[in-house]
Amino acid sequence: MAKLNIVKIGDDTLRRVCRPVEKITPRTVTLLDDMIQTMRDADGCGLAAPQVGILRRIAVVEVEEGNVIELINPKIIAYAGEQQEQEGCLSIPGRWGITKRPKHVTVRAFNRHGEEFEVSGSDLLARALCHEIDHLDGKLFIDCMVEELKD
Ligand code: ZN
Repeated sequence: MAKLNIVKIGDDTLRRVCRPVEKITPRTVTLLDDMIQTMRDADGCGLAAPQVGILRRIAVVEVEEGNVIELINPKIIAYAGEQQEQEGCLSIPGRWGITKRPKHVTVRAFNRHGEEFEVSGSDLLARALCHEIDHLDGKLFIDCMVEELKD
């Protein structure tokens, strides 16, 4: 596994819309492994492919240690409620803010074996899923931030 370089805000890559994965190849699997290592090394709870310079609809989320959710071509298929909580981003170091997000979401995606699955999450997991899927459409948490937090 390799640690990848995380693209920072100001880089155009973060504002582009990613293309779907058409076929899962050994390169896709390697990318997932590298993204997981990169996320963990950076102490993040999620990472999206555009954050490592790859414009494909791939993301990983780990809000509970050891329980990684790999998302290929993810779509939010249901959401409910609202939460306003603190958020940050590995691509926007040093900035934190309160965002407005759904409290519960259900996401449909494919795993590395090409199997479709659904995952539902509330609170932090719902925020992380929304945050990473937003990245795939070139959106950042500062776009839905209702208040910026100062150190
Ligand atoms: Zn982010």
